[in-house]
Amino acid sequence: MKTNFVVSKKDLYRLPWSMNDNPIGWVEVTDVCNIRCEGCYRLVMGDGHKDLAQIREEICFMKNWRNCDNISLAGGEPVLHPDILEIIAFIKQQKMKSIILTNGYALTEKMLADLKKAGLTGFSFHIDTTQIRPEFKKKKIESEMDLSDLRIKFAKMSKKAGLNASFGITVHDGNYHEVPAFIRWAIRNSNLVSGISLITYRVMPTQGIAYYANGERVKVGSESLGYTGEKDSSDKTQTITSKELYALIRNHFRGYEASSYLGGTADHTSIKWLIGNLIVDNKGKAYGGYGKSAMELIQGFHHFVSGSYLVYPNRKVGKEVFLLFPFDRPLRKAFFNFIKQCLINPLRLFKPVNVLGIGIIQAPDILPDGRIDMCDDCPDLCIHEGKLVNSCRLDECRIYGEFLQPRMERSDEPAVESEPV
Ligand code: SF4
Repeated sequence: MKTNFVVSKKDLYRLPWSMNDNPIGWVEVTDVCNIRCEGCYRLVMGDGHKDLAQIREEICFMKNWRNCDNISLAGGEPVLHPDILEIIAFIKQQKMKSIILTNGYALTEKMLADLKKAGLTGFSFHIDTTQIRPEFKKKKIESEMDLSDLRIKFAKMSKKAGLNASFGITVHDGNYHEVPAFIRWAIRNSNLVSGISLITYRVMPTQGIAYYANGERVKVGSESLGYTGEKDSSDKTQTITSKELYALIRNHFRGYEASSYLGGTADHTSIKWLIGNLIVDNKGKAYGGYGKSAMELIQGFHHFVSGSYLVYPNRKVGKEVFLLFPFDRPLRKAFFNFIKQCLINPLRLFKPVNVLGIGIIQAPDILPDGRIDMCDDCPDLCIHEGKLVNSCRLDECRIYGEFLQPRMERSDEPAVESEPV
């Protein structure tokens, strides 16, 4: 893998998000899902849809304790919840934005219109080749780009309803080489797509690692915990890092800029969230991006004016981003590129410009000494029995009563098979 671009934390703005002041409120409304994704963090526990009163309580908890700008509705598949319209309307009443994390399969135009009316801000679609989707029965899917039509379908439906749409894929060794093509697709369709997210595939490895809960060794496996276990002994799907993805994107898109990050909880060198962007026109021409100073101004200004940090803008960001050019070096470069192109073809001045957000998330890693490197000030904490826990590890709390403690397995250690509590 090419890594000739090195990202340094010194060149990035450390997002000021924290436990009690975080723009994202993660609320899981259901366990029920209509498709299956490899490495999914949520095992179907049989709890089904969460009660509306409990969901309202969780939204208020997030507002009070997390100072959220947005509620991210997750699951399972949130649109399957029978009270989804009431949930959206309640979030709006609480003066927060709402995003639904969805695979899109159950969405209809009528449902989108109703969700918009109820107050929804937009969707974050997960559509990729790790999924087993009913649509795949009609068409042979061999690569991420085979899914472009499906993504476009949902992007157009969202635009028609006046809703934002961003698209995410899980990145592993099998589709890593397709990331540039996926970004090119998003650039070409930046009038429909507000952002993309690239989530590095991780599962809890079982080879050479023993797991403990409540002081006892427990047997873990994909049958009990959805995100556990290598596919086979040569499985290397867990190795791609955010830094490698950054280098890959820089290699293909010279204007791409990363502006901000969240680090890890155990490894001071890791970058767990890497937020970047490309400023593009509707013909797919990239002018550049904005950097850390612009992001600092955006976050600081939003907090000063509204009292919370910003995530998922209400609407797509366009030319107004250039207003910040005096304060941000990469943005100055992008702005001058834009002016240069307008001098060559003055009609460009009247054509739309879109800011395409590119978020990279490096999911938790088990370090060689057995510690788990989580995302520092995790934006996706959810509520479990009155406490905030990392949503990517919620099932450990639900099955074992607490987070599992990994330890490097000693060769003389007997395998213990205890049942989940
Ligand atoms: S630590 Fe938090 S932000 Fe990071 S993958 Fe897990 S839930 Fe998401």
